[in-house]
Amino acid sequence: MHCASIRCSTRQSIRTPRLWARRAKDYLIIDKHFGGTAHFSPVEGGIFLDLKRIYAGDSVHRPYQNLFHETAHMLDQLLGGAMPYSYQQMFGTSIRNEGRRLLEQEKASIRNQRVSRLDEIQSYFNKHGRWKKTDLVWMKDNGLLKDLYANSVEGYGPDANMRWHIEQLKNSIEISDDEAMRNIAKHIRAESKPTDRNVDDILQAALGDDYPRSVGHGDGYFSSFQHVCGEPWAEIMDAQLANPKAYELIEQYFPKSVTIFNTMVKEVLA
Ligand SMILES: [Zn+2]
Repeated sequence: MHCASIRCSTRQSIRTPRLWARRAKDYLIIDKHFGGTAHFSPVEGGIFLDLKRIYAGDSVHRPYQNLFHETAHMLDQLLGGAMPYSYQQMFGTSIRNEGRRLLEQEKASIRNQRVSRLDEIQSYFNKHGRWKKTDLVWMKDNGLLKDLYANSVEGYGPDANMRWHIEQLKNSIEISDDEAMRNIAKHIRAESKPTDRNVDDILQAALGDDYPRSVGHGDGYFSSFQHVCGEPWAEIMDAQLANPKAYELIEQYFPKSVTIFNTMVKEVLA
């Protein structure tokens, strides 16, 4: 059934707390003065954290938020039994696909910006019969001038060579994964405070360890598909429960995966 997104998200804002609260009596904190990184241990069947630090918040979490994160991991295990409930092909695949789609979109957007800049440079030359110095500097700064001499066509003057070079460039601009990932991370840093960047962890799950995250996990953690499902589960849940800004960003970058998460919550409540 279709419904207006505001009504849907209002319903969701009731469903997730209801699911979380349903198992609240089962959340077991094994060590509440834990000095290391807060975590849920499936083997020991409980949570290790520093409650005082969690209540106060820290440089990358709002107050209370991490309590919801770790209990979300424990809830995931309680709901699933042998395997975490979030460990579902459709969910993890959606996380990866949406990450890939973001990367391709970002590459296309950088490429388009670069092509239109080169169009401007060309039309300035066509109009004035000379190159603007700031344009040449921009080309040099973006590494677009480095092949000019290697590619120059013999017998033609520098202007003709330059025009030919720009034409070649427009057809052959390649944006690397690294540059696109750096740009995505830059947008997120511009849009949010360090405490509200759950989405960075999900981007690491989706895109791999080269994503220049400001919060996330150690290298190699997301080589496990179970973690590709389990971390987004906990990130989405703690954001829905304790950090509206973080949730807004996740919805913006991973809308389909959020819909799948919401459906998973709904199904397990039914
Ligand atoms: Zn986690």
